[in-house]
Formats: sequence, structure tokens, C-alpha cells
Amino acid sequence: MKSQSIPISKILKNYNLCEYCTGRLISKLVGKPSSKLLGKKYLINYGKLSNGKCFICKNIFENFGMMLSNIYEKSNNVDFKTFNLGIILKNSYLERDDYVKSKFKLKGIENIKFGISTEIAKKISRRKKSVRVVNEPELFIQVNFKDESCTIRTKPIFVYGRYNKKIRKLPQKQTSCKKCNGIGCHNCNFKGLETLESVESKISNFLIKKFDANQVKINWIGGEDQSSLVLGDGRPFFAKILNPKWRNKTLRKSLKLEGVSLSELKKIPIPPKGSISFKSKVSIIVDTEKPLSITQLKKLDVLKNSQILDNTKNKRNNQKQIYKISYKKLGRTSFLLDLLLDGGIPIKSFIQTSETNPNVSELLENQCKCKSLDFKNIII
Ligand SMILES: [Zn+2]
Ligand SMILES: [Zn+2]
Repeated sequence: MKSQSIPISKILKNYNLCEYCTGRLISKLVGKPSSKLLGKKYLINYGKLSNGKCFICKNIFENFGMMLSNIYEKSNNVDFKTFNLGIILKNSYLERDDYVKSKFKLKGIENIKFGISTEIAKKISRRKKSVRVVNEPELFIQVNFKDESCTIRTKPIFVYGRYNKKIRKLPQKQTSCKKCNGIGCHNCNFKGLETLESVESKISNFLIKKFDANQVKINWIGGEDQSSLVLGDGRPFFAKILNPKWRNKTLRKSLKLEGVSLSELKKIPIPPKGSISFKSKVSIIVDTEKPLSITQLKKLDVLKNSQILDNTKNKRNNQKQIYKISYKKLGRTSFLLDLLLDGGIPIKSFIQTSETNPNVSELLENQCKCKSLDFKNIII
């Protein structure tokens, strides 16, 4: 204690410091953890417990009140058990802190930013019965002392589910606002999206409301045209819910939205990485340009277990296959085609044009057109 008393007295004689900054600066010298109490003890010992302004922090530690009520107000309706915070502070604070430390050769001491965040975190922990964690906190608070503001964001929630689409003329995805190209304008209420209904908008709106979130991003297992139905067990999807306030809400396994019904809904800890392979069972009504005979239709048998090459894409993606095929003549120039095939095969192009190989129009030597295309099931 005696050998250390010289630098401590020097520091305290030269600079007016608060209890917090004193505790922090001398913690290594006296071999104790930094604390307000430690600072107070030494300030009393040296007769320096004053009301003056702290040279380093300008008494910022005594003035967290406004900031804290701001934080409590913003996080009032937020479900969280873990949090972390970041501090934005004027450089001058750090400069004065470094100046004193280097003048007295004080090394390995936490900086003032660290000290402030520790104090604020303590208060939040107590008030909100939560724990500060570094990795993936449920709530992150950005505290900005430059302009006395704070912003919060929460950890996303991931939801898995499947949807069935029982009406036609409903696109799967939302399209960007045509006026602003997705940037956000008055026309689209600054969402960057067309207000037209879609499977995506229905699912997103439901999840945004449910979890009081800002935005939902959906990863689809395959897609379909607006005129296609999605039947059977439905098409799987993974939704990322951004900035949810209510993360503890329970999710019912299934529910009906207009024209779309959801099933197998559940929260998942993390979404699967990479692309998911799947198979589709589709039912297509094909119209042909010229009349068609059963004998001609039988040419389609070669498609069973055949590989499909998509010439518009690079070759690595081309390990796609048709597993099952069945057909039925419906009229002079139309037939029904049922397929079980790998997801990602461009079905319309496989029927209509020769960009894929083999190709139905080519095999039949008859220009074909998809009249309707429905998904009877999607298998993962
Ligand atoms: Zn201070
Ligand atoms: Zn717009």
C-alpha cells in the first residue's frame, strides 16, 4: 500500500476525479476490481471527496437518469432476458482518459467507455431482470451520448411453416413498388413494395402483427406462378422476423389466412444453411398447337427417370431429374401431365420451349403450352 500511495496521491492532487473514475484508475495499483466504492474510499483518504466536476467524465456517471429512462421507455414492451449495449461517446472523453492514464503510466485499465457501459448494464439488469451477454443478445441497445439518444434492435426470430394456396390469381411474392423501384416512396408508404396481395404479404403481415416486428423476410422452398395452386402438405418456407418486440408469443401450428392456409408453423432456433433440395408433384394441363394422338403421347415415356438440362443456367446446377410421369388425353389438342420431379426445374420451359432438354414440345413435335400448372405436393 505504501509504495503505491505516491502515484495515487499524485493523481488525486493533480486532477479532480469522481468516485467512478478514481476507482477505475487506481484499481490496478491497489489490486482490486474497479468500483465506485473503491474510488470513494480513496477520495476520502486523500481528502478529495469534492463536489467539483470530474476532469475525465464531467460527472457523466451521475447523470444517466435521462438516458436510462429513454432506454426503459424504448424497451418497455420488448420481451428480452438477455441484452447487450454499445456506447457512443464524444472523443474528448476518451482523450482525457488516455491522457491521465499515460501521464501516470497506468496500464491495463478498462477505458471510460467500458466503465460507462458496465454501470448502465448493471442498472438495466436490475430493473429489467435480464442478463448482459456478448453473443446474440435478445436485445441490443445503442446508447449515444453524442446526441443523448438511444436505439434498440432485437434478435430475429425464425419460423418454419408450410402454406397451401387454394385460389388462383395470387402471386407468391411481393413485387417492388413500380414508382420507386423498392427504395420507398409516398406511393408505397415507404415500404418499397406494391400493395397488391400475395402469399408473401399475407404471411408477412400475420407475422409482423403477431410478434410486433418491423419486417419479415421469407426463404421459399421453390415457387409458383400466381395462377398455380399449392395443394397437399403445402410449400415449405422459412421466415426471418426482423426486430420482433414480442418474442415469447406462442404460435399456433396451423391457421387460415384469406386464400392461404398455414400449417406446421413453429419457431426454430436457426434456419438451415444453404439451399434445400426438394421434389415437386405437379399436375399440368397442356394445350397443343396441332391435334394429338395417344401414340404420340406415349413418346413422353422416355422422360421417366431422365435428367433435365437447363441450357440457360451453368452446368453445376443441372443434376435435376424427373422421377415419375403419367398423362391422360383430355381432348383433341389437350392433355393432362402429372410429374414428380426435382425442384428448380423450370417446368414451363420444359413444356414449351427448347431451352431445356429433353423438352415436351420437341418430343411430341407439337408446340405445347401450359394451360394450368398446380402443385399437388412438395416433398423435402
Ligand atoms: Zn469521472
Ligand atoms: Zn415506392
